[in-house]
Amino acid sequence: MRIVSVASGSRGNAYVVEQGNDALLIDCGISAKRLAAAVDLSRIRAVLITHDHSDHVSELVPLLNRIDVPVYANLMTAEVVVAQEGVDERAFACFENGQSFEVGPFAIAPFSIPHDAADPVGYLIRGDETYFHGTDIGSPLDSIGLKLAAADAATLESNHDPVMLRTSRRPPCLVQRIAGPRGHLANDQACNLVKRFAAPQLRRLALAHLSRECNTPLVAELEMRATLRELGREDITLRVFDQDRVIELD
Ligand SMILES: [Zn+2]
Ligand SMILES: [Zn+2]
Repeated sequence: MRIVSVASGSRGNAYVVEQGNDALLIDCGISAKRLAAAVDLSRIRAVLITHDHSDHVSELVPLLNRIDVPVYANLMTAEVVVAQEGVDERAFACFENGQSFEVGPFAIAPFSIPHDAADPVGYLIRGDETYFHGTDIGSPLDSIGLKLAAADAATLESNHDPVMLRTSRRPPCLVQRIAGPRGHLANDQACNLVKRFAAPQLRRLALAHLSRECNTPLVAELEMRATLRELGREDITLRVFDQDRVIELD
């Protein structure tokens, strides 16, 4: 299973999970042009939406003008995306959180996550490996950790450093929102989830959706490396996804 981040962060998200000639696109917050430069669009069998925030769905309409594939989301998310982005409602295939469905060689299990959107989810995707995808997570809940525990490869949000967030120039209400239980996952919370739930079969880990102002790739990476060292799991490949660069979790 090939996992590629085309863009990761609050200015646009798009991730590709590929196996053989079949690929899934998770979220579509960057232009079809940028996507096409990074992946073969003809391989995309479906788009999976995590939630309705614009950094995850703003470029769906132009993409669907180029490729005719179903967009998977739960009903609440689909309704907001139809209203907000003008996506044709017939493009949607709706699922219920917790119920698995299949696309090509992939079995996909969406699970609820706490975040200030209509009905946000993460995904556990089973193909020749099991892949965990979780960004925009307000709290490191055990229910999320239990999904992570099933993974061979994982993309996990590591949004901010709590001190950098508190001392940033951001307005207090925004700081509260980001740090709150339905905001974003801090570096130490991501480490905590990995510490408690990384299972022996986890081989690849990517940190995602980093804040530009309240985090740095180096800070997030060093903190996770320290966690992996503590766990005796320095064998795990660690990558940090980027807003502007295509990065493969290889
Ligand atoms: Zn986001
Ligand atoms: Zn969000």
